[in-house]
Amino acid sequence: MSAPVPKSGPMASSAPAGAAGVVTPRMLTAAAIVLFALAWGFLPDFTVVILSYIGLYAMVAAGLVLLTGVGGMTSFGQAAFVGIGAYATGWACTSPVAVQFFGGAVGAAGLPWVGLVLGFVITFVVAWVLGAVTVKLQGHYLPLCTIAWGLSLYYLFGNMEFLGGQTGITGIPPLVIAGVSFASPRVMGVLVWAVLLVALWLLSNLLDSREGRAIRSLKGGQVMAESMGINTARHRVKLFVLAALLATLSGWLYAHMQRFVSPAPFNLNIGIEYLFMAVVGGAGHLWGAVLGATLITLLKEKLQDILPTLLGTSGNFEVIVFGLLMVLVLQRFDQGLWPTLQRLTARWVRQPAGRQVQASPHPLDQRAAPTAGTTLLAAEHVTKRFGGLVANNDVSMSLKAGEVHALIGPNGAGKSTFFNMISGVDSPTEGQVQLMGQVMADAPSRRFAALGLGRTFQHVRLLGQRTVLENVALGAHLRAHKGWLASMVRLDRHEEASLLAEARRQIERCGLGAFADVPAGSLALGQQRIVEIARALAGQPAALLLDEPAAGLRHLEKQSLAQLLRQLRAEGLGILVVEHDMEFVMNLADRITVLEFGTVIATGTPAEIQSNQRVLDAYLGGADEDEVAV
Ligand code: ADP
Ligand code: MG
Repeated sequence: MSAPVPKSGPMASSAPAGAAGVVTPRMLTAAAIVLFALAWGFLPDFTVVILSYIGLYAMVAAGLVLLTGVGGMTSFGQAAFVGIGAYATGWACTSPVAVQFFGGAVGAAGLPWVGLVLGFVITFVVAWVLGAVTVKLQGHYLPLCTIAWGLSLYYLFGNMEFLGGQTGITGIPPLVIAGVSFASPRVMGVLVWAVLLVALWLLSNLLDSREGRAIRSLKGGQVMAESMGINTARHRVKLFVLAALLATLSGWLYAHMQRFVSPAPFNLNIGIEYLFMAVVGGAGHLWGAVLGATLITLLKEKLQDILPTLLGTSGNFEVIVFGLLMVLVLQRFDQGLWPTLQRLTARWVRQPAGRQVQASPHPLDQRAAPTAGTTLLAAEHVTKRFGGLVANNDVSMSLKAGEVHALIGPNGAGKSTFFNMISGVDSPTEGQVQLMGQVMADAPSRRFAALGLGRTFQHVRLLGQRTVLENVALGAHLRAHKGWLASMVRLDRHEEASLLAEARRQIERCGLGAFADVPAGSLALGQQRIVEIARALAGQPAALLLDEPAAGLRHLEKQSLAQLLRQLRAEGLGILVVEHDMEFVMNLADRITVLEFGTVIATGTPAEIQSNQRVLDAYLGGADEDEVAV
């Protein structure tokens, strides 16, 4: 396809500048590490302790950034997971039962590791169950559930005799790793920050991968993500577990730094503070967690000094200030402070260009093109009722390889509903759908995607802040396989390069090459529709469903789109298209099916449809314009 959009024009200039800036974020991080390493021995004790706490909090907040900012879920219960980490190791290192039982096997120095494993196991089970129970219940159930969880665990800590009740557990030993004791706060702080930096590295690798795109897609809505083949429920639960494990790790370090644990720091209040840190710092940015943890910790320190004198009584008033602060920050900086910081420093800090890795030759799954004429998709007597309304009434139609089949009809005729029926978004009340010869029954849309169905949406569903390239790469999700762990340690680089190369190829093919690296949301709506087509193509579909692809395109752009669809048809794809532009449809379609009030009133070639009296009466209404206003 030549270009549905002109290569020049207002959008062309908005490609990221890239050239400006002298340092990269990586150089800044390295410089900060070197600076702190040199200064570490000379900082006052108090500063060292505060910095260590900031590191511990940032670890929890980083999990929340992933969960909340990136994945769109909220948890107030992270403090309780920190508590599990702290109490598990507290118990394992001090309780006579545990010391006797495990101590013999691993020795005294090994007990903290028993505690760590114990904490991880408990958290894993609890978080998995909590996640799995609430994940199906959308909306506010997860936050509410985490509040309940945070509260109940807090009281549990306080009331368990063997966990020391309100007094807690004292006498937790310092960590000793390879003969090095981490008893002094100054040494412990180094460990905390080392762990934090490693965790941030792993998480940012995860975000910068195929699975990271899947996580981001959770925010784009379940329907879109599932249509890309992503098991959203599974990703949600995994994300919740990952964030909880980070909190547990922080709690483990906390217990060995503090050397005693009591219920207070694992209160719901603190759970809310963690959320503040993530949101204020920058909900979608990992380093925002460090920024947020720093700001909130320092602010809390100051407020605890100032507020009681100011108000004349003591109490946890800082929570009120945090609440106001969060409202303010969200009003002014809805993405938190980190993106603002990035913008302000953009003159000096250059965002790194994508690292170049060689794409390996055959890493992506390939689908053999279907032979022309085979039936890809068949709907048989599909009826869909919404209460008393019959949106689809006994609709039967098929889509063959190598044809463009148009579905037309006035607004409200049931076209989009039918698309949902044949793409797994919703199930028919009666009748059945077959894809590639398989009866789909109540299969979810990711099954449809796996079998070779690609689709676009009438109301565009892109991740507006992510680049066109990332959006399109999401479409190829099912053609690669590297999971979370592989992504975290960068074992996915070749596969990832292949995914991005494939995405770029599809973008160029659709004529949007100039826009590959700009945020998808900055494109005109018509172009965003084309991005959706590129995204569908990245999945190498056999059947392609397009819901009003030409809406919002200019005349030349429509011609280019038609050209692209012809080319795809020639390659053997079956294309089912809903479109209102009659000129577009009549020039392109091999077959047309006309819906009215949910019922098929005609099927045939464009010529047959144009001379069908029933269609003319019911639909075209004798209008002599090309583009029928419907
Ligand atoms: P089209 O895409 O042809 O414009 P739709 O499929 O969107 O039509 O809608 C067909 C009919 O079904 C409309 O009357 C619409 O109001 C109704 N409808 C669609 N989705 C729902 C739903 N989820 N619940 C109730 N009614 C719906
Ligand atoms: Mg519609």
